[in-house]
Amino acid sequence: MFTKRRGLVAVAIGACLALLAPAYTGVAEPATAKTGRTLFEVTAPDSAARTKVARTGVDVLGQNKDVLTVAAEPFQQFALRATGLKVKSLGDYEAQLAALGKSDFTDREVGALDFPSGYTGYHNYAETVAELNQTVTDHPNLVKLQSIGKSYEGRDLWALKISNSPNTDQAKPEVLFTCNQHAREHLTVEMCLRIIKQYTDGYATNASIKALVDSREIWVVPSVNPDGAEYDIASGSFRSWRKNRQPSATDPNRNWGYKWGCCGGSSGSVSSETYRGPSAFSAPETQRVRDFVNSRVVGGVQQIKSHIDWHTYSELILWPYGYTTADTAPGLDANQAKAFSTLGKQMAAKNGYTPEQSSDLYITDGSVNDWMWFQHKIWSYTFEMYPTSSGAGGFYPRDTQIAPQTSRNDSAVELFLQYSDCVPRIIGQSC
Ligand SMILES: [Zn+2]
Repeated sequence: MFTKRRGLVAVAIGACLALLAPAYTGVAEPATAKTGRTLFEVTAPDSAARTKVARTGVDVLGQNKDVLTVAAEPFQQFALRATGLKVKSLGDYEAQLAALGKSDFTDREVGALDFPSGYTGYHNYAETVAELNQTVTDHPNLVKLQSIGKSYEGRDLWALKISNSPNTDQAKPEVLFTCNQHAREHLTVEMCLRIIKQYTDGYATNASIKALVDSREIWVVPSVNPDGAEYDIASGSFRSWRKNRQPSATDPNRNWGYKWGCCGGSSGSVSSETYRGPSAFSAPETQRVRDFVNSRVVGGVQQIKSHIDWHTYSELILWPYGYTTADTAPGLDANQAKAFSTLGKQMAAKNGYTPEQSSDLYITDGSVNDWMWFQHKIWSYTFEMYPTSSGAGGFYPRDTQIAPQTSRNDSAVELFLQYSDCVPRIIGQSC
């Protein structure tokens, strides 16, 4: 019974993928999950050391002060030790992933395409879509739901617009929240859903929420990478899957078109967790968000003024540029850098995260923040959410953390929205 059921589920999944992957030609093998990984803590006290670690090709999971947590495949361990940095093993990563959610293991969870016990409070893709549709039912005069196109496997990328006249394109500053570029960062989906709940359910009773919704148009994309997120949970235990589900699986957040592949902040190797793709915007998911953002140029003016892209984990607030450690660079002058850092620090004072320029963590190229800023002058931040360490759950904190760790950002999000029409106002400048 047990075995038979698994077989049926596997057949169903296979059929589903075949139907949903029109671009799949059979030339490349579908990307498969990694095996044999070991967790390590690496002492890397500055951006240069952390960039050196990232360039070995190991999967950088998180940062806590001077310590990076990474997952290394057997062939990567030599390169990791060759950095000369202090390296400490935390044991078999696969075993630790397999243990999550198995405390009261039942047959229901095997191949169930859903979160295991201890995690059922998280929304899988179907539950996220249902939640968005329920919001439309509950608040037809406050929201509009639209697809901005499909993922590689054919799932809709949904964007919910919150506005006091959602079916009209008003002449008001727009703001964008995106979540779940990285598949395994499931807490970010909950963060986007939290923002939606706050700014819809709260509209009738909370004067400051009403004032923000009345003066802005707020866009929320709860999952930019639904294929990867579903794959991460599809086997009944977590795979720690980061990228999308193209046959040459691509890291969406190294696939954006400004300074793509420029600076050793991504990988040209298909097997790498930071594979940038064969060209900028080669991932259908980044194309869809790019096209949506480009479509918000009305009368030659970009309507979206500011943006937060949500990630886990490490509890950081990051801003451009990621490709260079310089504080200023083409398209980013000293005043702009000061506005970025001032709002970043004030938001961090609300949620207790660490604020820094993106490259202070390590060099990245082809990230969403660099593109949003350079291409459109959208004030674009990354929030790396809870926790700070793999010991506290890494990408997989129990669902009991959803409420405290998303509500923890309420006041930072509110501050962000207050300045979202004109971030330089925070340093006394006009827009
Ligand atoms: Zn991420």
